[in-house]
Amino acid sequence: NLQSTKTLTNGIEMPRLGLGVYKMTERNETLQAIDKALKFGYRAIDTASLYGNEEEVGEAIRYSGVKREDIFVTTKVWNNDQGYDETLRAFEVSLKKLNMDYLDLYLTHWAVPETFEETYRAIERLYDEKLIRATGVSNHHEHHLQKLLAKANIQPMVNQVEVHPYLQQNNLRAYCSEHDIAVTAWSPLGRGGVLDNAVITKIGQEIGKTAAQVVLRWHLQRDTLIIPKSVTPSRIEENAQVFDFELSLAQMDQIAALNRNERFGQDPDNFKFNF
Ligand code: NAD
Repeated sequence: NLQSTKTLTNGIEMPRLGLGVYKMTERNETLQAIDKALKFGYRAIDTASLYGNEEEVGEAIRYSGVKREDIFVTTKVWNNDQGYDETLRAFEVSLKKLNMDYLDLYLTHWAVPETFEETYRAIERLYDEKLIRATGVSNHHEHHLQKLLAKANIQPMVNQVEVHPYLQQNNLRAYCSEHDIAVTAWSPLGRGGVLDNAVITKIGQEIGKTAAQVVLRWHLQRDTLIIPKSVTPSRIEENAQVFDFELSLAQMDQIAALNRNERFGQDPDNFKFNF
């Protein structure tokens, strides 16, 4: 069912499907995409201060007719706002832009070596002050998480990283699972770049599903949360139709064999500001 959730360590239910809104820069396009997604049953939106569309996200939610408390809203602190006080200030700005009085999840966008630990401490404080319902990070490798876990009062509940059939992140997933950290896949479709793969399209033909649906279902069966992005209504709908069928073990194995550690985005250990 579309409302399927994963229970985070603190008992909060996080929708397994959300709409990613990276690169939605045109106001009407963003409002329209979120409106459609909520009509099709999405109950989570993934944004970031970097995306420059927090105002539109807030606006679309307010006009949707869906109650604020029924939608899971995630945003992220950008790299040049990191640090303890800086993060608290950046959060306030995001909250104002979204025009909300709390957020569901706040993430460190990338593990900037000098500041990611202080940044997470600020996220813990926001949680203590009940301004966010869950804590988390993005683009953290196992070695980053180890540092956070060594000091954390509240352990990160979510790690959002690049995952798709060409970058399956099996070691990081195992580590997160051991520590009860939910994994969200960004670029779950490899920015569209895995959809022409012959193995994936063949599985789709076998079961009468599109390549995108096969890939999104593969994530779900590996207990990974998904935030596919699209501004096209038919695709937004298609990407949500992934809760009423199952891939066989043989099909899961065929996709497992496609792993080749290929990134479409950047490596968290080697982040370049200008991309
Ligand atoms: P994605 O894998 O979701 O791919 C999106 C692209 O795939 C679309 O632009 C479209 O071209 C294509 N597509 C989508 N649905 C399709 C369908 N049904 N059929 C055919 N093509 C389809 O890539 P993404 O946008 O990079 O990632 C999704 C979300 O993840 C972002 O919007 C953002 O919210 C988040 N993200 C986070 C980070 C981070 O650093 N934390 C980085 C990148 C993305």
